[in-house]
Amino acid sequence: MSAQAARFAADSMLGRLARWLRILGYDTFYLREGDDESLLRLAQAEGRWLLTRDAGLAARATVPRLIRVEATRLEAQLREVLTKAGLPLEGGERLTRCPVCNGSLAAVERSAVEGRVPPHVYATHRVFHVCTACGKLYWQGSHLRRIVARLDTIAGAAEERSGSSTGAATAPGGRAAP
Ligand SMILES: [Zn+2]
Repeated sequence: MSAQAARFAADSMLGRLARWLRILGYDTFYLREGDDESLLRLAQAEGRWLLTRDAGLAARATVPRLIRVEATRLEAQLREVLTKAGLPLEGGERLTRCPVCNGSLAAVERSAVEGRVPPHVYATHRVFHVCTACGKLYWQGSHLRRIVARLDTIAGAAEERSGSSTGAATAPGGRAAP
């Protein structure tokens, strides 16, 4: 399955994982308050991989694509999901999905964001993207560099590392449009 075709539907316990799958470029449905039945229906209807930490839900789900996420740490969860779905660990086309709402990101003219991003950001960045669904603006800030570095670490790690690596997962340096 191509990275572009792989889509996910994550249960309410997997919000952080869902956000990172979006950063990796995967269309990932997530609703914090969503109920299991509508999640199942959506996964079934749209051919999404159902991602769940709930053994009961996994047992009764009849969807053809199901991954019961057993890992607890984010990096391990990403590895687990991508491996079980047969996808490359480096992910798909990064930064094509809004981590907040799963909308598509589109390149936007630099001049169009003047006044909508902090002046120092405007002065020091050339490439901006906008979420076509929620309007948030993204740029290649330090947050993004850290995220990409972490993703590369994930892809490069042959084995799970021990110890704490639960630092804050930040979205790319985004600001809501006014
Ligand atoms: Zn968005």
